[in-house]
Amino acid sequence: MAFDNRRLAQLANHDAFLQRHNGPDADDIATMLETLELDSMERLIEQTIPAGIRLGRELDLDPPRSEAEALDYLYRLARQNRVAKSYIGQGYYDTLLPAVIQRNVLENPGWYTAYTPYQPEISQGRLEGLLNFQQMIMDLTGMSLANASLLDEATAAAEAMALCRRANRKAKSNAFFVADDAFPQTLDVVRTRAHYFGFELIVGPAESIADQEVFGALLQYPGESGRVNDLSQLIHQAAQAGIMTCVAADIMSLVLLREPGTMGADIVIGSAQRFGVPMGFGGPHAAFFATTDKLKRSIPGRIIGVSRDEHGHTAFRMAMQTREQHIRREKATSNICTAQALLANIAGFYAVYHGAQGLRTIAGRIHRLTTILATGLRQAGVKLVHDTWFDTLRLTGVDAGKIHGRAMAQDVNLRYFADGDVGLSLDQTTTAHDVGQLFDVLLGEEHGLAVPVLDEAVVAEGLTGIPPDCQRESDFLTHPTFRRYHSETEMLRYLKRLENKDLSLAHAMIPLGSCTMKLNATAEMMPISWPELARIHPFAPQDQVAGYKQIIGELGAFLKEITGYDHIAMQPNSGAQGEYAGLIAIRRYQQAQGQGHRHVCLIPSSAHGTNPASAAMAHMKVVVVECDDQGNIDLEDLRHKAQAHHDDLSAIMLTYPSTHGVFEEGIREACEIVHEHGGQVYIDGANMNAQVGLARPGDFGGDVSHLNLHKTFCIPHGGGGPGMGPIGVKAHLAAHVPNHSVRRLEGVDAEAGAVAAAPFGSASILPISWAYIKMMGARGLREATELAILGANYIARRLAEHYPVLYKGSHGNVAHECIIDIRSLKSSSGISEEDIAKRLMDYGFHAPTMSFPVPGTLMIEPTESESLYELDRFCDAMIHIREEIAQVERGDWPTDNNPLVKAPHTMTDIMQDEWHRPYSREVGAFPTPAVKSAKYWPTVNRVDNVQGDRQLICSCPSIEAYRE
Ligand SMILES: *Cc1c(COP(=O)(O)O)cnc(C)c1O
Repeated sequence: MAFDNRRLAQLANHDAFLQRHNGPDADDIATMLETLELDSMERLIEQTIPAGIRLGRELDLDPPRSEAEALDYLYRLARQNRVAKSYIGQGYYDTLLPAVIQRNVLENPGWYTAYTPYQPEISQGRLEGLLNFQQMIMDLTGMSLANASLLDEATAAAEAMALCRRANRKAKSNAFFVADDAFPQTLDVVRTRAHYFGFELIVGPAESIADQEVFGALLQYPGESGRVNDLSQLIHQAAQAGIMTCVAADIMSLVLLREPGTMGADIVIGSAQRFGVPMGFGGPHAAFFATTDKLKRSIPGRIIGVSRDEHGHTAFRMAMQTREQHIRREKATSNICTAQALLANIAGFYAVYHGAQGLRTIAGRIHRLTTILATGLRQAGVKLVHDTWFDTLRLTGVDAGKIHGRAMAQDVNLRYFADGDVGLSLDQTTTAHDVGQLFDVLLGEEHGLAVPVLDEAVVAEGLTGIPPDCQRESDFLTHPTFRRYHSETEMLRYLKRLENKDLSLAHAMIPLGSCTMKLNATAEMMPISWPELARIHPFAPQDQVAGYKQIIGELGAFLKEITGYDHIAMQPNSGAQGEYAGLIAIRRYQQAQGQGHRHVCLIPSSAHGTNPASAAMAHMKVVVVECDDQGNIDLEDLRHKAQAHHDDLSAIMLTYPSTHGVFEEGIREACEIVHEHGGQVYIDGANMNAQVGLARPGDFGGDVSHLNLHKTFCIPHGGGGPGMGPIGVKAHLAAHVPNHSVRRLEGVDAEAGAVAAAPFGSASILPISWAYIKMMGARGLREATELAILGANYIARRLAEHYPVLYKGSHGNVAHECIIDIRSLKSSSGISEEDIAKRLMDYGFHAPTMSFPVPGTLMIEPTESESLYELDRFCDAMIHIREEIAQVERGDWPTDNNPLVKAPHTMTDIMQDEWHRPYSREVGAFPTPAVKSAKYWPTVNRVDNVQGDRQLICSCPSIEAYRE
């Protein structure tokens, strides 16, 4: 038996990580197998994974390292990066993350292991944090509405373009205008998106906006070379010409600059990175997206709204929860799912901690130092391209070669333009001493300029780079939340108070099907705080990023071996973005083969909403393939539809194991059918946790897959992001994966556009997945997969007597998740899947995935990290809930007054003097004795979704509402 070997492994390495990562120990495994009436793990796997696709060998990976060894090795790699002073700017700036936020949010599993707040009653803390973020963005941009983050500034710009097209119904043109002083990486991503939407892209001087025949326009504020100018006139002219305007704004500059909302912008987007989120070689960080009130129903991504709970108390929730990809599917124009919740929270807390005054000090100092620099340079006879600036200068007519030489010698990174100009941007970390050094670098040692003397002149003469009509006049961050927490003691307690409201993996298992809420080990998380990884600019010179190159290369090699693909592209920042990148690779490849007319994408009816949405964004026509009663793809229907589209079939998007949680026997055949008809096979990798070490999509027919590193490969969910969705591709697609205009990628077609702002996406969280694989090794990864499958089957077996389990493979087994059907209970008792989800909160659990992929069901995914103890605790809760439902069925409790429909129970409920319920307070809050020993209290009653959507309020409520 494979697990006997563990004893030997323990001798060899007493601190093997896999025993920490995997929940069940050898005795637990024996018990679970016994419950399933199986004599070995091998038998379970034989019966679960079709023989035809099993790998049949161990993955070829290095032997596993202990936590200490892996971190040592990783640190050696990280040290090969050189942390230089970065003045490159261009959307990425060094910043100071307040230590109280670093330790209590970024490095705190109470925050980073939480899931997207679909269950608001157990998510009020991070919902409040995200609402702060929205309020901050609304205040700084001067807009009426903001969402709670997109993936980066460039994709936010692309989303803005799509929104303009949708909202500007009057415009006949199919062209979009981008001002020529937008960041190049923004233009790159917008260009890709425009191409597949079938939009023409026009690039020109901002001043030419009104002459264009376009439906929308993007202006950068300040421009990429630092120019600050009043956009009101241009925006007004554009509006007259029927053009909607989006302004890409720098968040720090908005502290001092007039807000684009007052200039008439329809949409304002940008990056919140420099509000405390380290550059991380490109990410992760949160982008913002703000609009006028008129556009509130079409804003992409997640919006946090204010609603009420059952007792009328203020409660936060995600507004319009079911975002458009799930409703509109192939008609969607956005596929955003995982966003950047953790980083949005951090940026919001940065503003809470500093307050308006603190931000004015920070932005004011950045601007003053820039003004000192500009004044000195001009005195020295250097020509600046613009007379206005916030933090960015562009020098022209200089000897860039000499400057470059001096800069390199002093570890100073500047921006070098193709025409010989030199640019630089200052940031929160810049000091007066740094400005002195910049004079040395830019002018040579003999310049004779003194920063204190210049400073005196700047102050005395009131010098500024901000023109009068661009000075900010309005107040911002006036809400009490932004005034109260400026001492560290207050801030610490605020963060703790919010954290305590939320349920995370630090409390209990989060059995969300399709989301793989496994352990995010502390050792895996530690490297993200290392300056050698955190303080690297994405466009830093190649010779400063050798460490990142090595880490990305090694992780790519691991993932190739794990998936069976030939090449891994690291750019996409989420699974959905990976889908988009993968479909584009297919389309580019087919184009190159003279098959560009192929545009039909087959998608099974059970697919995740992002699949059809991504296909639509890649300009494909979605044709739905039916599933049979067992949840398998109907191969007959597939054959029929592939045949019917023989001439224009581009691809199929399959999820494996299926979203129904089954290893379909026909997968190879399905792939073959599509290949026979000239199509490519996209396999959605969200369910890789059921395959790693046992089967590889690249072996059984996949041409391309995305991997959700934030599911299978241990990047934490962060309450709704960050994520990483790299794609694996077969060799023929390798040249067609995303490239990047600022940092060209080797082996990729120069014509291939970017899908994200940074060449390697959210590079700074890749070491998490690297460490996971390094510490698990081949056997550890395989055992993790086996345990994930064992756990799901164990739960299915224990619950089967109490709830119908939908969809099983031919031997009656499920894959790594199982679906229980609540529909019959609903007709017999009136109790819904939602009631069960809310009741689980009283037992201290997060609900399983609700109504995906089948309405009226719950999908449970335990992962390998949960011990038998925890699996049993969950099953016991579910079984106990079933008994409660039986009491409703029997009529012991009325259908409208029982612990299920009244769930969740708050402490306030239980402490009320009056109690008019047919069940005791104890049954309400402590349904089993086990709950008493570690009670988690939801802080609000059931939240009213309808009210929240009907009356959309996305700003911080009055302080009275908080006090209620
Ligand atoms: C999570 C998931 C996605 C989307 O991934 P994101 O990283 O959230 O964009 C796509 N398909 C399936 C089946 C998923 O579970």
